Amino acid sequence: MSEEKKVTEAEELLPCRVCHEDCACIEHEGGWCTYVMCANCGSATAFIAYNNEEERIEAEKKAIHIWNMGKVIAESRGE
Ligand SMILES: [Zn+2]
Repeated sequence: MSEEKKVTEAEELLPCRVCHEDCACIEHEGGWCTYVMCANCGSATAFIAYNNEEERIEAEKKAIHIWNMGKVIAESRGE
């Protein structure tokens, strides 16, 4: 039984881990890096840099993955 998975489905953005609102969206900074940010509380992933269109898609996937793993930088301090 060999299962070939060629279709790479885009991962869905999970609700924010910090404020639990479903406000996460992919942001782009200056056309060279991407990250996921919560529009509600401002929590965000680290920037993922890219150099071209192909890398941009990979970078977005990576940012979504990081977001979904909960590796976000919370805007609110003292946590
Ligand atoms: Zn949030």
